[in-house]
Amino acid sequence: MSRSILIIATLLFAACSKDSESPKITKFTESWYNVEEINSQTWIMQEGRSPQGNVSYLVSGSERAIMFDAGTGENFGQDGSRILYKIKETTDLPVTLLLSHFHFDHNQNIAEFENVAFPDLDFLRQSVDESNVYHFSKEDLFVGTSPASVQVGEWLPLETDIDLGDRLIQLVNLPGHTDESVIIIDHENKLAFLGDFLYSGEIYVFDPQNLQVYANSMEKLMTLINNEYVLYGAHGAPQVSYQHLLNSLSLLNCILNSDCFTESGTSVFGKSATRYHSKDGATTVLLVHTD
Ligand SMILES: [Zn+2]
Repeated sequence: MSRSILIIATLLFAACSKDSESPKITKFTESWYNVEEINSQTWIMQEGRSPQGNVSYLVSGSERAIMFDAGTGENFGQDGSRILYKIKETTDLPVTLLLSHFHFDHNQNIAEFENVAFPDLDFLRQSVDESNVYHFSKEDLFVGTSPASVQVGEWLPLETDIDLGDRLIQLVNLPGHTDESVIIIDHENKLAFLGDFLYSGEIYVFDPQNLQVYANSMEKLMTLINNEYVLYGAHGAPQVSYQHLLNSLSLLNCILNSDCFTESGTSVFGKSATRYHSKDGATTVLLVHTD
């Protein structure tokens, strides 16, 4: 079943529940996370039982760790924690949460983190209040109204080395899926964590104007990494092939040139959408009409 159909089923369930404002669906017992080591300082935390199939990543140095996304919040958790308990089983280091982007399915456990970092983007700096609190909009979240806000504890620089302790990473803002989308690149280990920018599944675009933005971001990414890098996305099978990046860029360009196979009458989240297929059917872009 495709991710979109699963999400729709999830939303229908949520709509029938008393708390229809919440994107949370049903609670699953542990063990919820499948934790897998990429190397001795990097872990995949996959929510394989989530209808959305989310995947978050713990990226550590010798002094601190970055948790890249906070999970869906669909599990029961342990001792009142739905993700931090699992992180603490994995590292003793101080952990900073960084969201790949603000959609609801990546930030439901945000309140468990003492330190939440934002990418140092001008439009985000200008959006926090005088206490450095960011208030999530409905558009940010895409579904639901939770979380309402977060205290920004740190602004992480873009496209410059961030030292986690004997390990350097870089953040890159790649708009297209959302404006604030960031990825993590570890050049030394040739790893890239892409969030929803690219994952195992169809790409979601929320405004026709973002088709070109997305394509530009993919071209930028290809100037930063090459096919020796191992890529990881935020849904489905964690690892994404470099070829998937090439195919996705090709499909975006084909959409922009009005030369693609389309599927009419599609809708997601109660909004009409157009699904575009590559000629081999392997790559799909879903353009959600938000107006
Ligand atoms: Zn998303």
